[in-house]
Amino acid sequence: MTTAARVARIKPSPSSAAAQRVRELTAQGHRILDLTVGEPDFDTPDHVKAAAIAAVERGETKYTPVNGTPELRAAIRAKLGHRHGLHYPDEEITVGGGAKQVIFLALMATVDHGDEVVIPAPYWVSYPDMVLANDGTPVIVDCPESDRFKLTPARLEAAITPRTRWLVLNSPGNPTGAAYSAEELRALAGVLLTHPQVHVLTDEIYDEIWYEPESVPTLAAVEPRLRDRVFLTNGVSKTYAMTGWRIGYGAGPRELVGAINKLQSQMSSCPSSISQAAAVAALTGPQDFVATTVATYRGRRDRVAKLLADVPGLSVTAPSGGFYLFVNCGGLLGKRTPAGDVLRTDEEFARYLLESERVAVIHGAAYGTPGYFRVSFATSTAVLDEACEAIARACARLS
Ligand code: PMP
Repeated sequence: MTTAARVARIKPSPSSAAAQRVRELTAQGHRILDLTVGEPDFDTPDHVKAAAIAAVERGETKYTPVNGTPELRAAIRAKLGHRHGLHYPDEEITVGGGAKQVIFLALMATVDHGDEVVIPAPYWVSYPDMVLANDGTPVIVDCPESDRFKLTPARLEAAITPRTRWLVLNSPGNPTGAAYSAEELRALAGVLLTHPQVHVLTDEIYDEIWYEPESVPTLAAVEPRLRDRVFLTNGVSKTYAMTGWRIGYGAGPRELVGAINKLQSQMSSCPSSISQAAAVAALTGPQDFVATTVATYRGRRDRVAKLLADVPGLSVTAPSGGFYLFVNCGGLLGKRTPAGDVLRTDEEFARYLLESERVAVIHGAAYGTPGYFRVSFATSTAVLDEACEAIARACARLS
């Protein structure tokens, strides 16, 4: 069987590949200190599980409308209204099998051969491959640490061409936790307003895992003139520890949402009815789970940032949101391991951590930004402490 060209153009998700490698090593009997995890280490809240069980018992085990149940769309509408003052009519909201699927379908619905999608780097690993899978051209824009890993208006302006269809804005971002302030969004909007062909896909999956007093702003609310050019995506995976339930959503122009629904009707018919009932409970039920878990993440963030910043050769800034640290290891590249190997790249550095200390991290080049590695703190303090000590030991052995 030969496969289509689009399969050859893309690679499997590096985070799934890293998770697979950790599973293999664990199965071989190795104890791995796993800092690659892209999902909360908490269990889904009990009231959410109970809502799913009740849905099964009520017989809500059949297809739902393609764009999700009216109850879930209402819950999403309420969240966007309450949090951002954004009012989306029902036909501008859709639900899919995770934010990942919603983003994929948005690109599938809009990108033709040769259309360009601007992706600021460091980026979530899936964006470029999703664009390639849909025959588009990813246009990667480097956003260095000196710009706090954020896109500037000048870099955006330079990246836009007549073929640009989308800008992808992930805030708070994976892997850096960087988030755009309202002022920064307004500055980007200034550029976008002069290029009406460009739409903006905002990925807000980490919006509630947030450590600052003011909530994280969203472009569609900050610049109402762009509201109809923004497709806002989010989901319940990270906030409510529901990664396995596979529910994400999108809100934006009705033509786009209609096209996504048309594709979804031919692809999966609808997201899982049971998971949708659970997502309603997550969005409309008590929110104390979010406050408690964010407080825990905050403690871990501060602890790991301090432990790693104390390691000579590494540097790290504590992020405003998300559960990752993007650690600069540029100071250690070019150094030699006790075995005599020179660590030339962040990928070799990550392999060295895994092989010498059994610490699993993901190298920065996977996110489009070499010279760094990503650490997830969605794991216990005991594992984090042990892993940070092991990283410090491994770094101290380099010469
Ligand atoms: N966007 C970003 C930035 C992510 O990190 C993830 C999960 N790794 C997703 C989207 C997808 O989330 P889900 O499909 O579980 O809703």
